[in-house]
Amino acid sequence: MLIEQDKVVLIHYTLTDEAGKVLDSSSGGDPLAYLHGQGNIISGLESALNGKQAGDKLSVRVEPADGYGVRDDALVQQVPRRQFGGADLQPGMQFHAQTSKGHARVVTVTRISGDMVTVDGNHPLAGEVLNFDVEVAEVRDATQEELEHGHVHGPGGHHHG
Ligand code: ZN
Repeated sequence: MLIEQDKVVLIHYTLTDEAGKVLDSSSGGDPLAYLHGQGNIISGLESALNGKQAGDKLSVRVEPADGYGVRDDALVQQVPRRQFGGADLQPGMQFHAQTSKGHARVVTVTRISGDMVTVDGNHPLAGEVLNFDVEVAEVRDATQEELEHGHVHGPGGHHHG
C-alpha cells in the first residue's frame, strides 16, 4: 500500500540538526503514527513520504520554511516577572501563552534579569535545517473515526481519556 492522502502511516525516525546532533528519535519506542495529508507532521517531511510504502527508507533534509518556520525576532519579548504568578522561573522553562490574536503559543524563558523575563515564542526548532532518517514501518487505511478526528488512534497516535 502506498502512502497517499488519508492513509495512516507509521514511521521510525531519527532527527538530527546540521551538526549531526540527535534532536529526537523514535528508536526504542513505538513508531510515530500520523494521518497523511492532514498536516499532522511538518510539511517537508510529509511531502517526502508521499508515494512511499512499508519498508522504504529515506533521508529527508527539511529547510526551516518547510519545518518549524524561520525565526521571528518579534516573538521575543520582555515581560514583567509578576506575570508568572510567583513561579520559580528558570531559563528553558516553557509556558502556554495567548497571543494578541488569541492563539495559544508555547513560549520558552530564555533570560531572567531582575524583574524582567525574556520569553521566546519561536518554536525551539525554528530556523533549523532538519535532517530526518526515516523508515516506513506500516501503511494502512484510516478508520472512519480517525478521519473524522483528523488524527491516528492507538499506539504512536492519540489516546482519548
Ligand atoms: Zn481522536
